[in-house]
Amino acid sequence: CGIVGYIGHREAYPVIIKGLRRLEYRGYDSAGVVLYDGSDLTLCKTKGKVSDLEEKAAKEISTNGKIGIGHTRWATHGVPNDVNSHPHFSNSGNLVIVHNGIIENYEPLKKELIKRGYTFQSDTDTEVLVNLIEDVKKKENLKLGKAVQVALNQVVGAYAIAVFDKERPGEIVAARLGSPLAIGVGKDEFFVASDASPFIEYTSNAIYLEDEEMAIVRLNKPLKIRKIKDDSLVDPYIQELQM
Ligand code: GLU
Repeated sequence: CGIVGYIGHREAYPVIIKGLRRLEYRGYDSAGVVLYDGSDLTLCKTKGKVSDLEEKAAKEISTNGKIGIGHTRWATHGVPNDVNSHPHFSNSGNLVIVHNGIIENYEPLKKELIKRGYTFQSDTDTEVLVNLIEDVKKKENLKLGKAVQVALNQVVGAYAIAVFDKERPGEIVAARLGSPLAIGVGKDEFFVASDASPFIEYTSNAIYLEDEEMAIVRLNKPLKIRKIKDDSLVDPYIQELQM
C-alpha cells in the first residue's frame, strides 16, 4: 500500500503514476488518483494494478492538474473493489483523502456520523475519517489542518494520510501514526509519499514525519510540522538524500 501526493508546477498525474509504480513492492489490490485542475476535482480509481488505473484514466478522465493525490490500497475494511478504492470524498465533495492503515474505532464514529446525517458509499474505515474531518471542520468552523488534527485526536488506530480541501486549494495536509510518510521539498513544489522513491528524481531534500506528527504543505509558504496531540510546532529536519 502506498501514498503519493504532489503540489507544484508540474503536471501531477505522471508524477503520481510513476510514484505509485515505485511503491508497488509494498503490495496492493487497488489504485486510485484524484487531481485538482484549478477549479474541479477529478477522480479515477479501480480494483487492480496501477496499469489498470492508467488504462481507465486514459479512457475516462482528463488528467490535467498540478495538484493531486494517489493511492495503492491493501484492503483491511471492505473487499477490494472500485468503490472501496481510494481516494475517498467527504459528503460535501470538498474534502478528499487517501489513507494507509486502520481506523480501529471507525464503527462508533460511523454510527455517530450517520446520526448526524452523513451517508457512506464504501465499506471502508477511511471514508469515516474523511467525513469526521468534514464534520469537525463544519461544527467548529476550522481550517483544514486544524480539523484534521482535531479529528485525528478522536481516532484510535494507525494511519498515514494525505488530505486535500477544494476550499483551500494551495495546500495538502499529511499526517502519520504507525505508517511511514515522507515529504519531498523541492523548489516551489512538494511531494508526499510513503517513502522517498517517488520523488528522489525531483529533489534530494526529504523530511520523514515521525509518529503523531502532521505536516501542512503549502505552496509559496513555509512548511509547518506539528505534533498532533499537543499542537506544538516541530522544527522540520530536512535530510539530504543520496541521488
Ligand atoms: N483501511 C483502509 C482500507 O481498507 C486502508 C488500507 C490500506 O492501508 O491501504 O481501505
